[in-house]
Amino acid sequence: MADKGILVVVSGFSGAGKGTLMKRLLEKYDNYALSISATTRAPRPGEEHGREYFFHTKQEFEELILQDALIEYAQYVENYYGTPKAYVEKQLNAGKDVILEIEIQGALKVKEKLPETLLLFVTPPSAEELKRRLVNRGTESMDVIESRLARAAEEAKGMPKYDYILINDEIETCVDTMHKIIQSQHDTVKNR
Ligand code: 5GP
Repeated sequence: MADKGILVVVSGFSGAGKGTLMKRLLEKYDNYALSISATTRAPRPGEEHGREYFFHTKQEFEELILQDALIEYAQYVENYYGTPKAYVEKQLNAGKDVILEIEIQGALKVKEKLPETLLLFVTPPSAEELKRRLVNRGTESMDVIESRLARAAEEAKGMPKYDYILINDEIETCVDTMHKIIQSQHDTVKNR
């Protein structure tokens, strides 16, 4: 039977470029599975149910909580986000390294439940660059951008709890570094 995969949490400020980073990691390297979260946020243009997220009403989301179908969930700028349990367990058991792209409250809950989880934090090179990326994305109103920046300042306090902090300056370099860190974790886990 294949060795069990590693659970990897990737967090980072909204606008840090995590989405692009994850996409490249999966294109470039085999053996990763990206968990698709459930959320009550409305789809952005171009997003599809079952691809970027499973989009749910608040009531449906609360049903998932009651059924204990989520590994963790958290509220983020007025919406619920959560990680469906079944897919993650299946992929880990099949030997895949599973990536959860989730915010900090959820990340710390996962680490508490499953201490072998690797916690990675992605940050843009500067605060100015973060704001520029958020504004350029053009998918959120100025109010929401301000809320997300305020939230980023809050989340920065949790960065020391992560195993590694990755600066996303040049995407390919960041993807390769992330891959190396995860693979080195495999060796550590095997050698225990
Ligand atoms: P966005 O609305 O930009 O897609 O995501 C907002 C935040 O929610 C991001 O920081 C993202 O990492 C986080 N997020 C996405 N899915 C989950 C999840 O399943 N659980 C938690 N705790 N956070 C999530």
